[in-house]
Amino acid sequence: MSILVYISNVNGKIKKQSLELTSYASAMSKSTALDVCGVVIGDIEDSALDELGKYGMGKILKAVDAQFNNRVNRVYTRIVEQAARQLNAQYILFPDNNEGKAIAPRLSARMSAGFVPQVMGMPNSYEPFVVSKRAFTGKALARVEVQTKVKILSPMFNSFGLIEFPKELLIEAFTPEIDEPHSRLNIINRNLNEGTISLADAEIVVSGGRGMKSGEHFSMLEALSATLGGAVACSRPVADAGWRPADEHVGQTGKIIAPNIYFAIGISGAIQHVAGVSGAKCIVAINSDPEAPIFDVADYGMVGDAFKIVPELIEAFKAHLS
Ligand code: FAD
Repeated sequence: MSILVYISNVNGKIKKQSLELTSYASAMSKSTALDVCGVVIGDIEDSALDELGKYGMGKILKAVDAQFNNRVNRVYTRIVEQAARQLNAQYILFPDNNEGKAIAPRLSARMSAGFVPQVMGMPNSYEPFVVSKRAFTGKALARVEVQTKVKILSPMFNSFGLIEFPKELLIEAFTPEIDEPHSRLNIINRNLNEGTISLADAEIVVSGGRGMKSGEHFSMLEALSATLGGAVACSRPVADAGWRPADEHVGQTGKIIAPNIYFAIGISGAIQHVAGVSGAKCIVAINSDPEAPIFDVADYGMVGDAFKIVPELIEAFKAHLS
């Protein structure tokens, strides 16, 4: 019996999210004594999967076929289902992203398995199985009991972190039986945002709040982020005002992020904002108000006008990094 992790194959690479899901599964296995296994679909070198062993993955079923390189959710669902049945999976973990949202509900219907998205934290108990999830766009936590034999979970990215549980990893070829046309879709082109760093994966995040005064002024933060090879984020009022896209808002009702460095610029540091960034290894705050609560959680603070400090920082970093 096992805990099965769906490993996202992003153009032949795995991302931090799969490492975090594996850490989560390994923590679950401490309580359940189940094996931690994975399934990956599409072209990917074994060497690209090796790192998963560090986080407790014992075995991966790898389904490679040229037809699988275009993700077709209906077909992927069938493949994960067959892997889950072969490995006698009691729990199946998906990333809480568009991929997970597309496959997990379909799998839930096919396997009559309860599905809990947006899981926060480890299960509260296993017998009965109870877990907490975000509710009302993050304004509350709901405790959910799942009574089906197989349970499907999507833990929130960056809410658990990476924990090493070194294991010897076995990678096995897996040939699923797909007895229907692979796709009624013909994908003719794919435009990937090559070169841009997603907020969830960024090691450096430059974030702005209402203190930036307008959407146009975020060009300054984009310049700082580009200099450092990071991504831009914002507080909720900034997204609500339409200054930045909604998917950049971090906090209790937005994304949870855990970069190495988080620049909070013109952000007061409300508890609902800090809830989304407390996993950052280092918080650098720039605020004109020395009493702003962000300084209580910041590792480094600069009291002053962001419109003066940020251009100077950009110049200093450029000079240092060139
Ligand atoms: P403000 O609180 O207005 O702060 C602006 C800051 O900019 C001030 O500290 C000011 O001193 C500083 N400033 C002004 N001018 C300058 C300058 N020239 N240079 C430098 N600094 C300057 N918020 C989130 O961010 N994420 C969430 O997920 C979220 N969820 C919420 C959920 C609920 C249920 C509720 C009730 C609220 C939620 N909020 C959330 C809102 C949160 O409570 C705060 O209102 C919000 O975070 C404040 O955003 P801000 O810091 O950008 O703006």
